[in-house]
Amino acid sequence: MLKRDVIVIGAGAAGLFCAAQAGFRGRKVEVLDHAKKVGRKILMSGGGRCNFTNMYASPDNFLSNNPHFCKSALSRYTQWDFIALVEKYGIAYHEKTLGQLFCDDSAKQIVDLLLSECRRADVTVTTRCEIFAVTRQADGFLLLTSAGEYQCESLVVATGGLSMPKLGATPLGYQLAEQFGLDVLPTRAALVPFTLHEQDKTVFADLSGISIDARAGNQLASFNENILFTHRGISGPAVLQISSYWHAGEDVEFDLFPNGDLHEQLRQAQEVSPDALLSTALSQFFPKRFVQASLPYFDIPNKPLKQFQGKSLQQVAEAYHHWFLKPNGTEGYRTAEVTLGGVNTDRLSSKTMQAKEVEGLFFIGEVVDVTGWLGGYNFQWAWSSGWVAGQYA
Ligand SMILES: Cc1cc2nc3c(=O)[nH]c(=O)nc-3n(C[C@H](O)[C@H](O)[C@H](O)COP(=O)(O)OP(=O)(O)OC[C@H]3O[C@@H](n4cnc5c(N)ncnc54)[C@H](O)[C@@H]3O)c2cc1C
Repeated sequence: MLKRDVIVIGAGAAGLFCAAQAGFRGRKVEVLDHAKKVGRKILMSGGGRCNFTNMYASPDNFLSNNPHFCKSALSRYTQWDFIALVEKYGIAYHEKTLGQLFCDDSAKQIVDLLLSECRRADVTVTTRCEIFAVTRQADGFLLLTSAGEYQCESLVVATGGLSMPKLGATPLGYQLAEQFGLDVLPTRAALVPFTLHEQDKTVFADLSGISIDARAGNQLASFNENILFTHRGISGPAVLQISSYWHAGEDVEFDLFPNGDLHEQLRQAQEVSPDALLSTALSQFFPKRFVQASLPYFDIPNKPLKQFQGKSLQQVAEAYHHWFLKPNGTEGYRTAEVTLGGVNTDRLSSKTMQAKEVEGLFFIGEVVDVTGWLGGYNFQWAWSSGWVAGQYA
């Protein structure tokens, strides 16, 4: 029987960070992970450069059934704390856009930082370890695993969400929550591309690779970034962001000219070049291939600008400013960056991340019903929730 003060299940962002904090308090900590390698999502993140936090991270950038829950952890371990740690390790980084901080070199530097913190804190990390069963004992928990039997006072569940099963995602965290009487809110893929209905797909598949500045929105939120046509559907940051607020069957509204007044632009073009075709005028603002596909799609005749009389030019502009698209669905967990829903925060202490009714049991990171926007927010939640739990586990 192996005795530890703290066992952390999951050697991802939240688990490794939490383990180090608990280790610094003098706790004997071991992290168990079934994967061959630790931090696989970190390695894949940000196109291999890890968008490790966001300078503007605030509770408003997170979705949860209880939007207040994340406030405590985010305020006690902030983006500035993690940035200071990154700087302490001499990792060069840059802001890509909208406060998103990326490593200059490689996401591996963040994994190395975490492992180095774990080493400094005397934390043992065991990979290729299957968890067979977890039971509660009078003074803690008993774990049956492929690496033997463990006994621990505190158990931290940091198994992440369901996205990207190829990278080791499993529902173990949700199962443990339910086993110990916590409820799990319905999960669904988020920060995920949309798939299209056949009639839209046939039009836009030819545009694969084209990206356009756009605002994607619905009644709940809107994001002004860009959209990317792919051979499967539609992606890009604005689409990924709004996917977290989308439910099957709903429309998404796109403003394809979000930073200007297309009617005014077309009116000016009409004045200057009345004989020019509408497609020529639109090609000043959009990629040519997109113009060619979008005119018939929006049922707009491609004729000389002077022939657009009355309100017809305004109607053209409105088609581009207010494009309502009903996605067929999403690409699902296979390509989603995160999972919405998860362990209901009602049964967790926001101060400690400990289950209110099960002493010694903690849930941190993505397994909890706190989901960040695209842009480094999800890692910040992993650091903040992991740090907090590390003070008490
Ligand atoms: C491709 C991709 C790119 C991303 N890019 C970014 C980004 O740039 N910025 C950002 O903020 N967020 C990004 N995210 C989201 C971010 O990676 C996650 O939100 C974050 O990793 C969650 O941390 P976590 O520790 O909760 O879970 P994870 O990092 O997923 O770690 C969970 C760990 O638990 C282990 N585990 C799971 N099940 C079991 C089991 N049954 N037994 C034992 N171990 C188990 C897994 O192997 C894994 O190591 C990205 C996600 C993906 C998929």
